[in-house]
Amino acid sequence: MIVVISDSATDAQVEQFVKNMEALGLSAKMIQGEAKRVFGLVGDTASLEAESLMRNDAIEKVMKVSAPYKLSGRSFHPEDTRLQLYKDGPYIGDGDFAVFAGPCSVESEEQILSIAQDVKRSGAAMLRGGAFKPRTSPYAFQGLGLDGLELLEIARQKTGLGIVTEIMGPEYLSVFEKDVDVIQVGARNMQNFSLLRELGRIGKPVLLKRGLSNTIDELLMAADYVLKDGKASVILCERGIRTFETATRNTLDISAVPVLKKRSHLPVIVDPSHGTGYWDLVYPMALAAVAAGADGLIIEVHNQPALALCDGQQSITPALFDGLMGRIVKLREALQ
Ligand code: PEP
Ligand code: MN
Repeated sequence: MIVVISDSATDAQVEQFVKNMEALGLSAKMIQGEAKRVFGLVGDTASLEAESLMRNDAIEKVMKVSAPYKLSGRSFHPEDTRLQLYKDGPYIGDGDFAVFAGPCSVESEEQILSIAQDVKRSGAAMLRGGAFKPRTSPYAFQGLGLDGLELLEIARQKTGLGIVTEIMGPEYLSVFEKDVDVIQVGARNMQNFSLLRELGRIGKPVLLKRGLSNTIDELLMAADYVLKDGKASVILCERGIRTFETATRNTLDISAVPVLKKRSHLPVIVDPSHGTGYWDLVYPMALAAVAAGADGLIIEVHNQPALALCDGQQSITPALFDGLMGRIVKLREALQ
């Protein structure tokens, strides 16, 4: 952290500032400029608030040098993280590409099995499907809950696909720990810090979706909450953000992919389904995400989109998904 002293500050004020910093376990090293008195603060400044320091009249400016996230950042972990999605399962990151596909919500055994078999045939690495749904309206379909998790388990046994599904709160942590391979934290829970902390105590990979109105740095700080205990791993997901644009459900921030890849070593995936809100935009934006350097995708696929209990308008059919997977393979080859 760099601190610029005000021109009007007295020597006594500067001495007091240095003492205050020392009392916090930091050392303030003077960098003598031509016109300005500048100090570099050395030590763990992570919990020091620049805004609070600015309350001191002797200080003109405070600049943070290091990023506000550490564990998810590249500075302490320069190489890409490659992680195994589940025991004996596929990998994601550092050159390994994985697609998670399935319906927005689990609706019945017949539905989830049929979709699981289709997406597996097309090359999906995991089956997605919500059992607990974070719906904006309390009157909308809320998901099958624990029954939905059981249906996902049946689909796993019949197809061998790993399961990714959303956790809404800490009450079912032990069930998710036992039955789910990758635990999804939805956009609305990205800053549910107590949930993130609890998930960090479980060793499972966490798929962390970017919040509706959250910045890239906020997403990385949220990832640090999960990584803090050193047990869990995190997959970051860009799923569109709120903007003034109404032509799409959200604005898919494709530039978040190279920015995240530059700042973080964690695998980055893109959700073109929630990112756009329309089935016919999923195909081009999925390809755009691959071209931008994503390590994977999460895509909503439904066998009867017109009858879907949730997000039918943005779900693609298994046939379209199959065609898309073929194009993704070709695009990735072309990008080599
Ligand atoms: C989902 O993946 O079904 C979902 C609800 O996503 P998000 O949290 O990104 O809205
Ligand atoms: Mn959905």
